[in-house]
Amino acid sequence: GEIAGDLWRNVEEVGETLTAPFSDPVIRLGVTGLSRAGKTVFITSLVANLLDRGRMPALQSGSAITTAYLQPQPDDTVPRFDYETHRAALTAPEPFWPESTRAVSQLRLSLRVQRQGMLGAMSGPRTVHLDIVDYPGEWLLDLGLLDQSFAEWSEETLARIENRTEAAEFLKQLDGAEPAANFEESLAKVLASSFTGYLHAAREAGFYDCTPGRFLLPGEMEGSPVLTFAPLRMTGKAAKGSLQAEMERRFEAYKSRVVKPFFRDHFARIDRQVVLVDALGAIHSGPAALEDLRGAMARILSAFRPGRNAWLTTLLRGKRVEKILFAASKADHLHHLQHPQLTAVLEALLREAKDRADFSGAATKAMSIAALRATVEETISHKGEDVNCVSGILLDSGKRAAMYPGTLPEDPNQLLSAARSGADAWLEADYNLMRFAPAPLHLKRGDGLPHIRLDKAVQFLIGDRLS
Ligand code: GDP
Repeated sequence: GEIAGDLWRNVEEVGETLTAPFSDPVIRLGVTGLSRAGKTVFITSLVANLLDRGRMPALQSGSAITTAYLQPQPDDTVPRFDYETHRAALTAPEPFWPESTRAVSQLRLSLRVQRQGMLGAMSGPRTVHLDIVDYPGEWLLDLGLLDQSFAEWSEETLARIENRTEAAEFLKQLDGAEPAANFEESLAKVLASSFTGYLHAAREAGFYDCTPGRFLLPGEMEGSPVLTFAPLRMTGKAAKGSLQAEMERRFEAYKSRVVKPFFRDHFARIDRQVVLVDALGAIHSGPAALEDLRGAMARILSAFRPGRNAWLTTLLRGKRVEKILFAASKADHLHHLQHPQLTAVLEALLREAKDRADFSGAATKAMSIAALRATVEETISHKGEDVNCVSGILLDSGKRAAMYPGTLPEDPNQLLSAARSGADAWLEADYNLMRFAPAPLHLKRGDGLPHIRLDKAVQFLIGDRLS
């Protein structure tokens, strides 16, 4: 079976390389980030702004996209990114935020590109397909599980959550679970569901270290055995038929049936990547959330430095992501004068990971962006001083308000070291949590959606392939 399977794979691969030179070039752009980092809004705005390029000046120099159109995507079994519904939400008379990413989805945008200058006149227009692949960053965190045994994962997880109030209920259930006892599905279900409950509560509280990622976003696997396990307090080797033995088996099945297929079918094929980071949201949530985000980022990034994982290295066989953009999302919560400080926080978050290895030669860049600008800048005079605010419609009250988000320090390490030292609150400043609703839009023909630096982001990611 194995050999036949391999042969068949080889035949398929040869088939692909035979047809590839004759078809139009394809760029696979991955869009990821932890839950609520802004992936759905980013892709919706990206597509809208590539279809109507009136707000994309930085992209249009050098080469020109003459037309862009959506096409049926080539991967028949992958859900399509629901662009139309999401765009309708953002452009409704009373706009609202679309539903967030829950699983992998994909969409193909085809671009007709006309090179400018002499060469362009000679070569005529060509077509480049942009396949945009949306997937939860939590799934990248799962890569770390491949190096762990069930015992190691259990130990690490339990040590981490021992003192978290969000985990109290699960830990209580765990006290009644004897690993050596005979396996019972009902107990496994109780443990898995209270562990999943913990993961949701932890995520809600701003923790990012929430593996297994698929427990949070189960999709069609909900309720299946690969998602019905939990960490155990183990004492020794598992006896056949015991709770521990079956949990161990399911953990291994999760790795081979859930984690590996995702990396093989989706991740390994990506050429360019955006990693969205809600750094501002983490700062607003406090030092613990920022420290946790730093840890999660470091682990997410290890997927882009495959040397660290033997299985992934073999899988990729030298193929690598060529460009990675790290984008601090929702920058419209800040007056533009503070954008450099936000970018600096993002850079500092990445530095640790970057210092160790250089993403296997990928070009990287950090930027502050807003995929959908929901605010306008306003300078308000307060006690005789000018205060640079942003104003918009507050999500909770529906009222228009000007808000001052707090001042980010010139040196991002002030924030990061406070976070690292386990401070309960920021010393220097108060950061205000803000949530704005999307603003009603009055779009003219040819206008994409309002954004901040989306054109520069796209130029960095795919500009070279358009000229
Ligand atoms: P996902 O989970 O990564 O798909 O995140 P979403 O794209 O659904 O974004 C989560 C939430 O962040 C949205 O519902 C908005 O409230 C907010 N958000 C995302 N992008 C922006 C942006 O560009 N500006 C503002 N002001 N809010 C944003």
